[in-house]
Amino acid sequence: MRVLVTGGCGFIGSAAVRFLVGAGHHVLNLDKLTYAGDLRTVAAVAGSPNYRFRKMDILDQRGVAASFKDFAPQAVFHLAAESHVDRSIDDPGIFVDTNLRGTFVMLHTALNFWNQLNREQQANFRFIQVSTDEVYGSLGAEGFFTETTVYGPNSPYSASKAGADHLARAWYTTYGLPTIISNCSNNYGPFQNREKLIPTIIRKALSSQTIPIYGQGQNVRDWLYVDDHIAALLAICEKGKAGSSYNIGGYNEISNIDLATAICALLDRRRPRSDGRRHAERIQFVTDRPGHDYRYAIDAAKAKRDLGWQPQESLQSGLSKTVDWYLDHLNWTMDVVSSEDRLGLGSLPKPL
Ligand code: NAD
Repeated sequence: MRVLVTGGCGFIGSAAVRFLVGAGHHVLNLDKLTYAGDLRTVAAVAGSPNYRFRKMDILDQRGVAASFKDFAPQAVFHLAAESHVDRSIDDPGIFVDTNLRGTFVMLHTALNFWNQLNREQQANFRFIQVSTDEVYGSLGAEGFFTETTVYGPNSPYSASKAGADHLARAWYTTYGLPTIISNCSNNYGPFQNREKLIPTIIRKALSSQTIPIYGQGQNVRDWLYVDDHIAALLAICEKGKAGSSYNIGGYNEISNIDLATAICALLDRRRPRSDGRRHAERIQFVTDRPGHDYRYAIDAAKAKRDLGWQPQESLQSGLSKTVDWYLDHLNWTMDVVSSEDRLGLGSLPKPL
């Protein structure tokens, strides 16, 4: 399969690229290399004849159109996005540009390309809009998001993703472009950006700094190991119904304070503090994020029933692997590399 991946130098996109290239698929990766994009994430496959990279802003309609023409993808995995909720509160404009208008450019360029295909190629083509459970808004203590839950986004990030999802649905309903939306819970695993919760907990603990947790740490998230997400995207691409959406989750609900404590306990065993104290003693509650959703929880029954997909990794084993990875890749975790290294020009971390 020829897959055009956007955002393939980010956390989840790079896991998709590594998996797809490793499985023998042909991949064209379009990524602007923002602060969140890093060529080290795809270093393991950069030399493969199946892999091509183009540094590109998805807002560059001409460049995107030329890429469709040259590469002739059979599927698009659209992951390029501004992804950090806190940044969206400080600077929402770029979230609207990239997530909403960028998705419009991707959809409309895909449609122009798709219109040139024959009927069989059109029927087999898929545009996967990779989205989040945050579009549904906040849950109370009970219940789960299903595919029929009404969207109610609360942050500029989730609102921009919700708008992009609506565009994807409209491009199917109005123009027939075979789009499918995946709404996935919080991912974790290797190569996540340092600013996200789990890498932050590990980095702060290792550098003997306080570990900041919003509010009283009671907000609940569902966590999915990133490779399980990639397996879901593959299943959606191969078996998903055009025009529909699938909820993807790990059935791993945990409060932020319990998550931080669990990671600290793993670090106590793998990298004990020199003063003999426990890493969790460095956890400090900080002023809550405005509009902080209380709880997200996914009902992924449809994905299991229709796609045969279910998560393989338990939170316990996934967190353990993840902590090990960040300890084995301290140049990533602590971000002590030069900008040349970050652009893949210098020494690379050891292969995956
Ligand atoms: P990330 O921030 O790690 O990576 C985003 C990537 O997109 C980066 O490589 C960046 O350079 C690229 N990018 C940003 N703007 C671009 C532009 N204008 N043109 C081209 N490339 C651009 O994000 P992530 O955590 O890997 O998330 C990937 C996707 O999955 C996003 O769409 C996000 O909404 C969605 N998602 C993430 C999670 C999660 O837990 N991280 C959960 C569900 C869904």
